[in-house]
Amino acid sequence: MIIHMVDGATPDQTQRVIDRITEEYGLPCETIVSATTVIGVKGITSYVDEGRILELPGVERVIRITEKYKDASRNFHHEDTVVDVHGVRFGGDTLTVVGGPCAIESEEQALASARMARAAGVDVLRTFVDKSRTSPYDYRGLPIEQGLELAAAMKAETGLPTVSELIDIRHLDAFLRSGIDIIQVGARSAQYSPLLEELARLDVPVILKHGFGNDMDEWLSAAAYIMSGLDREGRSVGIGNRKVILCYRGIKSFETETRFSADIGMIPTVRSRSHLPLLADPSHSSGDRALVERVAYGFVAAGAQGLELDIHANPEEALVDGRQAVSHEARRIVDNARAIHATLSGVGIETGTFAPATGGDGT
Ligand code: PEP
Ligand code: MN
Repeated sequence: MIIHMVDGATPDQTQRVIDRITEEYGLPCETIVSATTVIGVKGITSYVDEGRILELPGVERVIRITEKYKDASRNFHHEDTVVDVHGVRFGGDTLTVVGGPCAIESEEQALASARMARAAGVDVLRTFVDKSRTSPYDYRGLPIEQGLELAAAMKAETGLPTVSELIDIRHLDAFLRSGIDIIQVGARSAQYSPLLEELARLDVPVILKHGFGNDMDEWLSAAAYIMSGLDREGRSVGIGNRKVILCYRGIKSFETETRFSADIGMIPTVRSRSHLPLLADPSHSSGDRALVERVAYGFVAAGAQGLELDIHANPEEALVDGRQAVSHEARRIVDNARAIHATLSGVGIETGTFAPATGGDGT
């Protein structure tokens, strides 16, 4: 981190900045006095609050050299991270498909949708018990114990590892006891620190959705927070959970034709900035079955290392997100996505790391 002092800053002002950095954050500083004064801060600066430095008299600018999201950053870990879930690999040169119904609604619906997802060739089954919804009046899922029993039945029926979104921390033990293999943090919870801290204490894989009001920095910071197990002052909040999988799902924008706006350029950008496995969700981003297939292929071609798909045995009857759920066509989508991935792998596009993005403000 570099701190630029204003032209004419006094030695006392410079010393006050150095004192704050060394006393509050325990980091060493080096000062260069030339036409103006520049202070270089060494070490891990993730926890340094720029606002507290900018507040001090004589400070002009604070520039970060390394990202705040150190643990999730490719600058500190060059190779792709692979997260193994009972033999299913996420990341590296693998395409991993997660799929199943948006929510568990009944025994018949859950089992029929699980069978359909299995027949489509998914690697991990969605067994979503509790639902975070856009409106609190919308369908929120069955009572938790009943939902978890059906989630276990879906797992037994298919033999697939499962993922379910955890909304209420009080349900964590019940989730783990019932055999859920991956915990999803939904878009609406992606900035809920108490939940992130709880997950930082576990050795259980986590799929972290992109909050639809978050930029990439905020999303990757949430990932790093789970991974490091350290709070903003560097105090331990957990052992640190390295098994984080990212899932891009688009953001809110002025566009209303699609449910959310998904920027295809974010896929190679996030791949270049982070070593974590990156999935993309064509169902929740597009919100329309007619779009899901092509959006899925677009994500894979752009470098997504997996997909998360809503698959429902009978979408017209679905209590939630039926419009975006695919059914029999899921098989074709999964097959074609794997073919696209293999083709691009074969010509050397998919493998290896992406060059870091340079930003820029061209027209
Ligand atoms: C979901 O995957 O069911 C879901 C609600 O997605 P998101 O959190 O991205 O809205
Ligand atoms: Mn849904």
